Amino acid sequence: MNPTNAEPHSFHINALALNVGTIYFLDSKNIQSQFEKISKTEQTRILNAGAGITVTNPPACVAPFRYWRGGGQISNIIALDKQFCNKFASEEIFCTILHEIGHIVNTVPITRYSDSKIEEYYADDYIRHCGFSTEWSTLLLRLHDEKAIGFDKPEIKERAMRFINNEPKLINEEALN
Ligand SMILES: [Zn+2]
Repeated sequence: MNPTNAEPHSFHINALALNVGTIYFLDSKNIQSQFEKISKTEQTRILNAGAGITVTNPPACVAPFRYWRGGGQISNIIALDKQFCNKFASEEIFCTILHEIGHIVNTVPITRYSDSKIEEYYADDYIRHCGFSTEWSTLLLRLHDEKAIGFDKPEIKERAMRFINNEPKLINEEALN
């Protein structure tokens, strides 16, 4: 390899992790290697989204509270349920993170944190935009079939079927931060 062409990986997961426990968890699940699969454009968009990730107990969500780090304020906290995520493959945890980032980077005129069906579609479509369609639909169907808490609903299956049936994405480049 010509070293002049070797682009360094400017993205590092530690830029998103809010504490040592989260760095340890994300490292143990090889999430850095997942982020390296997506384009520089998406890596940059995610870094600029002002998000932070922490492992905690509620199901994955973007929490509407603020967190101070290094003198700066982060308002988009991605909280991952560690126990729940321990049952997921690396790609599945990454999809979960991308879904939550999808809630943050979508700029369509919908109310964030409203939990509406359409809002979930937009967040899901960010995963498709990043190229992880199969991994996410497979995970949603599995959680639905296993009747995991919060996933035992027809809407979950509908979300997976949107991917499987290759229904048009709601998001486009212009609708992303
Ligand atoms: Zn969501």
